[in-house]
Amino acid sequence: MKLWYPYKQMKDLGQVPVMVAGQGTQMILEDGRILTDGISSWWAVIHGYNHPELNHALIHQVSNFSHVMLGGLSHPPALALADKLVAIAPAGLNHVFYSDSGSVGVEVALKMALQFWKNTGYTGKHKIISLRNGYHGDTFKAMEVGDDSDFSSAFADVLHRGYFLDTPTGGFHADAATLQKDFTALEDLLKAHAPEIACFILEPIVQCAGGFRIYSPLYLKVARELCDKYEVLLVLDEVATGFGRTGKLFAAEHAGITPDIMIVGKALTGGYMGHAATMASTRIFNSFLGDSYDKALMHGPTFMGNPLATTVALKSIEIIERDHYLSRIAQINAVIQSEFDKIESPAIADKRIVGAIGAIELKEESMMAGFRDFAINNNAWLRPIGKVMYVMPAYIITDEELLFLIGIMKEWISRIYVND
Ligand SMILES: *Cc1c(COP(=O)(O)O)cnc(C)c1O
Repeated sequence: MKLWYPYKQMKDLGQVPVMVAGQGTQMILEDGRILTDGISSWWAVIHGYNHPELNHALIHQVSNFSHVMLGGLSHPPALALADKLVAIAPAGLNHVFYSDSGSVGVEVALKMALQFWKNTGYTGKHKIISLRNGYHGDTFKAMEVGDDSDFSSAFADVLHRGYFLDTPTGGFHADAATLQKDFTALEDLLKAHAPEIACFILEPIVQCAGGFRIYSPLYLKVARELCDKYEVLLVLDEVATGFGRTGKLFAAEHAGITPDIMIVGKALTGGYMGHAATMASTRIFNSFLGDSYDKALMHGPTFMGNPLATTVALKSIEIIERDHYLSRIAQINAVIQSEFDKIESPAIADKRIVGAIGAIELKEESMMAGFRDFAINNNAWLRPIGKVMYVMPAYIITDEELLFLIGIMKEWISRIYVND
C-alpha cells in the first residue's frame, strides 16, 4: 500500500471506499454506490459537496491568482476575511492570524499566549492547563495539551505535559451546584500555580474528538472569571465548534464570554480546503508591538491567507448569514432530539445532543465493531469514534436524509445483544 492513511493500523486496512464525485450530502463511490454523509467529512463540509456558489467564487479567484505569499504582501480576500471574522467573532477579538490547519492554528495560539507573558515582562509562565478528553490537533504542542493516549502515547517521553482538569460534569444544563467541584478544582490549581501558567486552553461546550462530551456554558463563564482573577489567558479552540455547530455561530456565545485567543478552522472554508485563523484581543496583539523582532510573532506558514482559502471562507460565511443557517441548525437539532428519544436500548450508556451534533455512546467499544461497514452497506457514511456513534451533518441536510442516517444508527443498536 503506497498511500499511508491516518489513524489506522495499516496492517489491517481492509477495503477503503473510493469517492469519485460529491453532490450535497451524497458521496458517489467508484463502484457506483452512493453514501449519505453523516459526519460532513470530519465536520468541515457544512454546505455539502460541490456547492455551486462556493465553486463559482473559487473559479473566479483561480482565474485571477491562486496563491501569493502573505509576507510583506497582501490581497483583497485576506483583508476582507479578517474584517469579516472580527465582525462576527465574540467582541474584542480584533486581530486575525492565518495558518493552514487547525493544529497549526493551535500552535500559533499557544505561541501567542506564551510570548504574551514574556513580552509583558513576566517570566516563568510556561505551563498550560487543558481538559481531560480534550483534542487540539496532532502537532507537538497541540498533542501536549491533548489527552487522547491513542494519539500521543508513542511520544509520551518527549511531551512536556502541563496541567489537566477533568471534563466539567453534568452536561449542557448543569447548574452551579453540580459544577462546584469543577470550579473548585480550577481555582485550586490557579491558586497554587498561576505564576507558572500561561493559559487555559479548551474546546468550548463540546469536546468533539474526545467523544462529544458536552458541558455547561456556566463553566466557561467561571473559567473566564477565574482566569482574569489569577492572570492566566483563556484560549478557546473553536476549530470544531465554530460556524454554527453548537447552535450559536461560536460556542463561546452560549456563555457570553470573549476569550483572549480563539482558533477557528475546519468549517472556516466550508470544508473546501485546509485553513485556520487564530484570533486575538487587542491586549494580546499590542504586547507584540515593539522596536525589534524580539517581541514580534515569528510565525508564518507558507500558505497562510491563501487567496483561494480566504475567498471560499468569505463566501461560506456569506451563505451562513444569508441562508439563516442557525435556524436550519435548530431544525437539525429538533430532528435529532425527537429521533434519539425513540432509541432505547440497554446497550446505550449516554445520548448527547447540542446544536447539529447528536452522539450516542454505547456501553462497550466491542458493540461498535462492524458498525462502519454496516453503515456503508446501508449507503451511509458514519464513522464512529471509539464507542461513540454520531451524526454531525452538513447544514444543508434534509430532514429525510437525517432520519435515514439516524435510522441506521437505531437499527444497529437494536441488533446489539446485551446480556444483563
Ligand atoms: C480537528 C481539530 C483540530 C486540528 O485541526 P486540523 O485541521 O486537523 O489540524 C484542533 N482542534 C480541534 C478542537 C479539532 O477538532
